[in-house]
Amino acid sequence: MNHTHGFKTRCVHTGNIEDNLYHGAVSPIFLSSAYGFLDQEVGRYPRYFTTPNQVGLAQKIASLENAQAGLILGSGMAAITAVLFSHLKSGDHLLVQQDLYGGSTNLIREEFSKYQMDYTFVSSFDIEDFKKAIKTNTKGIFIETPSNPLLKIMDIESIARVAKEHGLWTLIDNTFASPVNQNPIDFGIDMVMHSATKYLGGHSDICAGVLLSSHKTISKIRDFAKNLGASLSDNTAWLLERSIKTLFIRVKEQTKNAHQLAAFLEPMKSIKKVYYPGLKTHPGHQLASKQMKDYGAMLSCVLDDHIDLISFFKSLKIFKPVISLGGVESGVSSPKMTSHILLTDQERRQQGIEDQLVRFSLGIENIEDLKSDIQQAIHHSRL
Ligand SMILES: *Cc1c(COP(=O)(O)O)cnc(C)c1O
Repeated sequence: MNHTHGFKTRCVHTGNIEDNLYHGAVSPIFLSSAYGFLDQEVGRYPRYFTTPNQVGLAQKIASLENAQAGLILGSGMAAITAVLFSHLKSGDHLLVQQDLYGGSTNLIREEFSKYQMDYTFVSSFDIEDFKKAIKTNTKGIFIETPSNPLLKIMDIESIARVAKEHGLWTLIDNTFASPVNQNPIDFGIDMVMHSATKYLGGHSDICAGVLLSSHKTISKIRDFAKNLGASLSDNTAWLLERSIKTLFIRVKEQTKNAHQLAAFLEPMKSIKKVYYPGLKTHPGHQLASKQMKDYGAMLSCVLDDHIDLISFFKSLKIFKPVISLGGVESGVSSPKMTSHILLTDQERRQQGIEDQLVRFSLGIENIEDLKSDIQQAIHHSRL
């Protein structure tokens, strides 16, 4: 299997291990943590990311992002930590989009100063503002699009171009889009990361992270990640391989549900606003149409003040009030009560995150059931 096959074929077949012993249909799991050293050229060891299942899975995911190489890690944050700490040293500066996953923001805010590493959060989505923030010691740019929770869209191609003009590397968190809806390497981005805990895993039962880039860059990150000790077990790597076989059909259905739910919510009287890049009224719609294959399966909306948020969550029968996202079951969360709980009311308001903001992660259920679930929950939570 190689990159000339279609996306769905690669999901199912690329990187799988042949069962030469029994000719079974699926990859065997190789659980050894001790491998012979006499007759092999690669030193195989789980923490070196070189077991057969780790290597095969990295090939599969690399092929889905049109990358030369990949690395599978124990979590999405392990992937981000491995990139930033292998690419920055004391005295270096990083440019970061402000609307970033909370864990990434915490990593930068809490750890960088201990190593004399500098950073600037850019609050706008305007490329000119990123250009202006570049310093002589800037080494890289870290973006995330669509962003959480307002689904803002960053211009991937322009960021990559500006970075190249200034000799900087680029990292994108592509978790929300998944490889089904967006392939940033095609637009010139150097490194792509995913929290595989979300769409790649897809069943809310795996914690893992992945990185995709060139052979050279992945090798550099691997050298650091070996020291960090952030590998994924072969059992979990196998589960992730199994999940990715259905990645395309899952995310397609989830995305379709998000489109339909956005269209359903937009005209509702009890909904003040809907944020979904697939809606023509979304400020990032045109840009999203250019750089995304489809608009993804995450959407947010603001409930009317006459709806009690807590009873809305408690009244839902299908949507689960859970913190994570990307599973086959639909989920719902409140940014104020979860991801953005540490911000002051004023900081949240500045970022456009209203108290009544609700974020949906669409699953693969029947859309009519999801619509009626929201309708009845609104009905039962009216003040
Ligand atoms: C969950 C998430 C992460 C972190 O991934 P973990 O697997 O929890 O470490 C990073 N970025 C985004 C956008 C996420 O949703």
